[in-house]
Amino acid sequence: MNVIYLDNAATSWPKPPGVAEAMVRFLRDVGANPGRSGHARSNEAERIRLDAREAVAALFGVSDPLRVVFTAGATAALNLVVHGLLTPGAHVVTTAMEHNAVIRPLRMAESRGAAVTVVPCGPDGSLEAAAIEAHLRPATRLVIVNHGSNVCGTVMPVRAVATITRRRGIPLLVDAAQTGGCWPINMPADGIDLLAFSGHKGLLGPTGTGGLVINESFDITQLPPLVQGGTGSLSEHEVQPDFLPDKYEAGTPNIVGLAGLVAAVRYVLDRGVETIRRQEEMLTQRLLRGLKRLPHVRLYGPCDPARQTAVVAFNVAGRSCAAVAAELEERFGILCRPGLHCAPQAHRTLGTLPHGCLRFAPGVFTTVQEIDAAVAAVAGIAGDRALD
Ligand code: PMP
Repeated sequence: MNVIYLDNAATSWPKPPGVAEAMVRFLRDVGANPGRSGHARSNEAERIRLDAREAVAALFGVSDPLRVVFTAGATAALNLVVHGLLTPGAHVVTTAMEHNAVIRPLRMAESRGAAVTVVPCGPDGSLEAAAIEAHLRPATRLVIVNHGSNVCGTVMPVRAVATITRRRGIPLLVDAAQTGGCWPINMPADGIDLLAFSGHKGLLGPTGTGGLVINESFDITQLPPLVQGGTGSLSEHEVQPDFLPDKYEAGTPNIVGLAGLVAAVRYVLDRGVETIRRQEEMLTQRLLRGLKRLPHVRLYGPCDPARQTAVVAFNVAGRSCAAVAAELEERFGILCRPGLHCAPQAHRTLGTLPHGCLRFAPGVFTTVQEIDAAVAAVAGIAGDRALD
């Protein structure tokens, strides 16, 4: 059976043409450690890493590619900022729609003496920027906002939040794991100081890639490195270099992954984020319209394709989401994700605790026929005929 892959919010698949080939080519023909040995292969590996920085910088509107720091993913980038900025006594404001990649590091920082405020969101996951402002304190050192919910797609008013944080001189960290590559982002224009991104979702690259983009508005002297080690630079010094990107990139990088990421992000840039956004908005609209007409289906989130990423959350009345997901896979070859999606706070906000819901997440390569087949499959499982 052919599969219908609707789990792009977990990781995107398939990858664009050229991604797997770039990774194989690196392993077979290059193979060296970048920025280390000074021989031709090592220099070529460094060139690939710089290509990756340039592509990611272009994607997020940043002019200096050295402000792109690569990590193992958005999780590592979020940990770097949380643990670097939140010393005992520091205060942070975040939202009730965050992923555990934000909440768990924050709880760890809290156990070490930081203070954490979680601002409630509306029942569709929406955030009032003014609610962030109301919770700021003199000790607030950081504001963290999820750009797009991985549970129900709600997109947060990042520009409005940035206007507030800029006025107060507080760094704004945006979790763009769900929006990078599929929602237009320009860090200087949007007022984002720090942006954590995944390489393997909307950027269409391999797993184990991602990073932190540091806008010029952010002073890196206030952020110590979480991990120290070899960088290939200033090897005579026993302390970590203090310049970008080496300050935050100790150890051998995932250069095979970065080789794939170059091809992936170039594909995104060639196709255009605006074009990808329009395509995904069309697919989301079709999915929402189809599911809305099924009487036994309950949808969560904005239910408005203009206000959400290509992520649609729902339940079937009287059925557990895990059982529906299993049936979707067994009978129809449809792959999606049921449960709590590593975001219990978001499910509390939506009212879907303790079991969670199903999540359909189409991607750039999803077809209209696949969307229609998914709606028909849900209708069959729910015992519904579409209402007009
Ligand atoms: N934040 C959100 C909103 C996410 O959806 C995810 C991935 N599920 C992450 C952070 C973590 O991203 P990564 O897999 O790149 O560490």
